[in-house]
Amino acid sequence: MPQSYITGGMSKPDSQNRKILSAAEPKIQELAQQIKAGGKLPAEPLGKSWMSTMANPIMYAAMMSAKIFTVSDQCIGCGKCERNCPLGNIHLVERKPVWGNHCTQCNACIGGCPKGAIEYGKKTAGKPKYYLEK
Ligand code: SF4
Ligand code: SF4
Repeated sequence: MPQSYITGGMSKPDSQNRKILSAAEPKIQELAQQIKAGGKLPAEPLGKSWMSTMANPIMYAAMMSAKIFTVSDQCIGCGKCERNCPLGNIHLVERKPVWGNHCTQCNACIGGCPKGAIEYGKKTAGKPKYYLEK
């Protein structure tokens, strides 16, 4: 999901994200075929590989936290945030989400809430949130 890192300040309208995904589809198919055929994938440009090998571990240690997630009175207790969390980091208590300490900031909880009831500190209020349903 492009531009879904709303807790890091990246957020674009849903329509724009879907255009990015459509444009990427031919490349995804091409790479899938290469993987299927056992071929070698092209090397990432230096800037991108630096991000994933050196910068990410530092940023991950410094920024991955669920401590400032909040839930508003808009919450209807549907439990979707709990089900969407890939790390099992959310549990409903009295039909409201409570976050644990194992967040990877995938943003599935905040993006997938049907009521827009979740925020991350003051960074996310009023910003577009989205989640691609399976
Ligand atoms: S997904 Fe939203 S509405 Fe549903 S329980 Fe979580 S916070 Fe509440
Ligand atoms: S951001 Fe992702 S990992 Fe963190 S609590 Fe929400 S769903 Fe779970």
